[in-house]
Amino acid sequence: MEHRRLGLTESRVDVSTVREYNVSRMKTFVCAVAWLCLMLMVQAAPVKVASLHPLLSDMARVIGGDEVKVVDLFPANGSLHAFEPSTRELSMAMGSKLLLAMGKNVEPYLADLRENMPGSTKFVVLGEDIPDVMLPGTQTPDPHWWNSPANMKRASRSLLAELSAAAPEHAADFAKRQRAYASDMDELLLLGRILLGRLPQERRVLVTEHAAMCHFCEAFRLTPLAIQGVAAESQGDAASLARLVADLRAKNVSCLFSEYNGSPRHVRVIAAQLGASFMPLVMDGIAPDMPSYKKMMTYNIGVVAGGLGDTPKKPAQMPASEGEDLARLFAEIQQRAMQQAQHELQEEAAARQKHSGACQH
Ligand SMILES: [Zn+2]
Repeated sequence: MEHRRLGLTESRVDVSTVREYNVSRMKTFVCAVAWLCLMLMVQAAPVKVASLHPLLSDMARVIGGDEVKVVDLFPANGSLHAFEPSTRELSMAMGSKLLLAMGKNVEPYLADLRENMPGSTKFVVLGEDIPDVMLPGTQTPDPHWWNSPANMKRASRSLLAELSAAAPEHAADFAKRQRAYASDMDELLLLGRILLGRLPQERRVLVTEHAAMCHFCEAFRLTPLAIQGVAAESQGDAASLARLVADLRAKNVSCLFSEYNGSPRHVRVIAAQLGASFMPLVMDGIAPDMPSYKKMMTYNIGVVAGGLGDTPKKPAQMPASEGEDLARLFAEIQQRAMQQAQHELQEEAAARQKHSGACQH
C-alpha cells in the first residue's frame, strides 16, 4: 500500500517536474527573445545628445550622423548671454547620454544645471581644453572661442572621443566624419588667411559691438576693439564711448561690425559720427538662417574682408526697406571672396606643382 502510494506520489512528482521543466524552458525562451529585442532596440536607437549651443549641435550632427539624435536646448532667436534653461529645456534634455556646453563661462548656469540633471547624463564642456585669448588690455579671457576654426577642429576631436565612448560600435563612422569636419576647418582657416592676409596693416582693426572676436583676430592676425563688454546687453558709459570714437577716428576706421542677431544701437550711432559704415557679423554663433559653422564662418570671413577691404560699402544710416539690398550686397561680397580665394588656391597649387617639377629636374 505504502509502496503503491509511493509509486503514485513518484508518478505525480514526475508529471509536475516535466511541467515545471517546460515552463522553465518557455520562460528562458521568452527571456532570450525579450533580451534579443532589447539589444536590437538598444543598437538601433541613436545616442541622445543635448546641446546648449547651435554650433555644437551642428558639430554633433555632422560627426554623429544618423547614429546620434541631437536635441537643441537653445531657443531659436534666443540671446546667448541672456539665456537660462527653464524646466522646458530640462525636460527636453532628460535621457540624453551627453550634454554639450561651450564652457569658459558662456553658460554661468552650468553648475545649477548639472545638479538638476541625472548622473547618467555626462556633461561635455568643449571649451575646457581650448587655450584662452585675453580681451585687449585685460586678464579676462574672451569666451567666444568658437570664432576660430582651429578651436573648432580641436573641439571636434574631444567630441569624437566622447561619442566613441558613448557608442563604441559606431566609433569608425564617427572618426571618418570627424576627419571631414576637421578638413572643413582647415579650409576655412586657409580661406581666412588668404582673404584677410592681404589687408594692409592700417586696416587690420576689427571694431565690434561687443567683445567677441579675439579668437577670430588671433587666428587671422587682426586687432580687436570692442564698443561694449563681453555681453551685447552691457552698457558702455558716455566718456569711454567718446574716447573710443576719438581713437577710431585717429585710426581712420571706415567699417564697424554689429551682432547679426542683435540690435546695432551703439554701432549705428558711432558709425554715423565717424562717417563709417557697419555690417553684421555672427559673433555669438546664433543665426537661424546659418545653422552650419562652415556657412557662418565663410560669411564672417567674407564680410570682414569686404568691410575692411576696398569693396564699396553702403552708408551707415539706411532705411529698413533697403534690408534686401543689404542681404544681396553680403551675398555678392561672399561670392566674390570665394571666387578670389578659389583662384588663389588654384594659383598656389599650380606654383607648388611647378616647384616640385623643377625640383625633380
Ligand atoms: Zn557674445
